[in-house]
Amino acid sequence: MQLYNSLTHKKEEFIPNIQGKTSIYTCGPTVYHYAHIGNLRTYIMEDVLEKYLRFTGLDVTRVMNITDVGHLTSDGDTGDDKMLKGAKREHKTVMEIAQFYTDAFFSDCKKLNIKTPDVVIPATSYIEEFIRVIQVLIDKGYAYESGGNIYFDTSKLEKYYVFNDFREEDLAVGVREGVEEDSNKRNKADFVLWFTKSKFDSQELKWESPFGTGYPGWHIECSCISMKNLGEYLDIHCGGIDNAFPHHTNEIAQSEAYLGHEWCKYWFHVHHLNTNSGKMSKSKGEFLTVSLLEEKGYNPVVYRYFCLQSHYRKSLVFDWDNLNNAVTAYNKIIEKTALFVNDNSGDIDKSEYERLMKNFTDALDNDLNTSLAITALYNVLKADTNSVTKIELIKEFDKVLGLDIIENAMKTNQGEEIPAEVLELVEERKSARKEKNFALADEIRNKITALGYEVRETRQGVEIRKI
Ligand code: AMP
Ligand code: ZN
Repeated sequence: MQLYNSLTHKKEEFIPNIQGKTSIYTCGPTVYHYAHIGNLRTYIMEDVLEKYLRFTGLDVTRVMNITDVGHLTSDGDTGDDKMLKGAKREHKTVMEIAQFYTDAFFSDCKKLNIKTPDVVIPATSYIEEFIRVIQVLIDKGYAYESGGNIYFDTSKLEKYYVFNDFREEDLAVGVREGVEEDSNKRNKADFVLWFTKSKFDSQELKWESPFGTGYPGWHIECSCISMKNLGEYLDIHCGGIDNAFPHHTNEIAQSEAYLGHEWCKYWFHVHHLNTNSGKMSKSKGEFLTVSLLEEKGYNPVVYRYFCLQSHYRKSLVFDWDNLNNAVTAYNKIIEKTALFVNDNSGDIDKSEYERLMKNFTDALDNDLNTSLAITALYNVLKADTNSVTKIELIKEFDKVLGLDIIENAMKTNQGEEIPAEVLELVEERKSARKEKNFALADEIRNKITALGYEVRETRQGVEIRKI
């Protein structure tokens, strides 16, 4: 499979570190509010990546953190603590907020057919590990104490701005966020590993550490959770494109300083979902959620379909018209599938199966081109082959696409299986037609009609539906 690697800025053949296996790390949500559908675009595309790698036969292990401490409203070390903000807003404790929005996140994921990663770790459960790694960074000379906090010293690295398609001057935290710089830092790009001098008097969660009572910075959690669970060599690290800097840049800095060698080989970044008025954001107050889509009568799976129609490396504009178009297209797929989903007769047409399957794998092998994978699905629907071949292909495709196609097609047929009696008659009619006994075929059709079903022969096979 060819995958675009943000680190090298090109498509590369994906070769896992251990043959047959793949380790994936995903930056999880900051659980101070509901996920917006932009966040969920990232998780949908990551889910497709994971499922496709499994589809190709790889034994995938995927790990995700839950950010329940340390993430400030600026992705640098300034602004308010996001969790604290959430707790104040709802007059609850930070842990109550974290639990509530973690559950809400996984409930949204379930509705969107996003598989829960194999390992999910809340940052607050790994404090000892963070302290251990920070101590190693201090011992190795990569971290220093200043003004009560522990900072990573970016000047100790040969290269800090590894995703260098960003201009350095745009990246300087103070400039970008329009906020004051932290005068404790030796270098502008240095970042906090451990806060002791909290500027938040009401900081709820604090832990004892050799560096003083405090709490971890945001970036250290992903390095530690990944290395502890997936080892020293990570195959793929995922996240939204906004995470590339400073978050992933800092993850690489601290992980490689700790390990003394290259850490993660492939970086997979999903571009943003925007609205016509710009970037989608949780902190803006009003934002689009899965619940809102449901309230408006949309099946969340249609939003997944909407996302799959576009490539993950292009930003995507959300508006209701675009979503309505996705509803129409999705319903068409379901209706077409419903026409043959109950026709189980015959054998798989091997050559057509292989040709159509290759369509699908070629699309996804090319840097996860999901829009072409959807085209491959349309090609199945209109192919000149029997129903069984189509059903099998759709079942296989849907292991990756996650669109509930077979299930919804079955439901379209009034949610009930076609009675065995009708199916038997359909088979008898097929044989009669084969033998060119059209009188008998007509007679059988009348019997089928009497049972409340309509049967039609098309070039693509037999269609059966309830009258
Ligand atoms: P957060 O909960 O803010 O930590 O973000 C969770 C994930 O959503 C991260 O991978 C972000 O990079 C990603 N993300 C944030 N905003 C968007 C957006 N508008 N579109 C797509 N992904 C996003
Ligand atoms: Zn992360």
